[in-house]
Amino acid sequence: MLSAIYIKGFKTFARPVRMPLEPGVTAIVGPNGSGKSNITDAVLFALGEQSPGVLRAGGMSDLIFAGSESLPAANAAEVTLVLDNSGGEISLPYGEVAISRRISRDGRTEYRVGGARARLADVRVVAGEAGLGRHSILRQGAVDAIVAGGAAACRQALEESAGLGVYRRRRLAAARRLEKAAGQLERTRQLEASLA
Ligand code: ATP
Repeated sequence: MLSAIYIKGFKTFARPVRMPLEPGVTAIVGPNGSGKSNITDAVLFALGEQSPGVLRAGGMSDLIFAGSESLPAANAAEVTLVLDNSGGEISLPYGEVAISRRISRDGRTEYRVGGARARLADVRVVAGEAGLGRHSILRQGAVDAIVAGGAAACRQALEESAGLGVYRRRRLAAARRLEKAAGQLERTRQLEASLA
């Protein structure tokens, strides 16, 4: 379960903000254009979204706070998602696991799991185990897209929400490795036969 979001230098969030999310429903209210949707963008960003368009930006550097009359532009954007692990869904021995992503103006990207440098793949595994993925964010029109996508889209959305997406991806990766190994074995057999 997502228990807190920490945002710094991302879009409208010039100053560091920590948003605790209590169990149940959290409503975020504010005037149009005040940055409500930027919070969902921040969650997708931390989950490793690679397309700036999906985050409603022209390029990745547009995600970094651009400056205002009173505040200078930020040099980096950082989002941390705190995941509650009291139920043990995440296969790490901690009651709480933080995953984060930071991008800087010079184009560097950094992912962290529990404060330690990690790969995007590691972040995805942890998020997936916690049942968090890009399908956890339903934007306006997203429900329509899932329904229009038919049974396959519905199943994928349900699997991601249930934390099964990570196993589907592991199965696909294992199947690809198996296929590669079978090809190598076949080539070795042919070589062996030609030498015999
Ligand atoms: P609505 O519900 O009307 O869509 P909202 O509260 O969801 O509004 P967002 O769409 O989240 O608002 O926020 C848009 C605002 O974010 C715009 O004012 C835009 O200028 C600002 N913004 C986007 N990127 C940056 C950035 N890099 N630096 C500063 N401000 C930014």
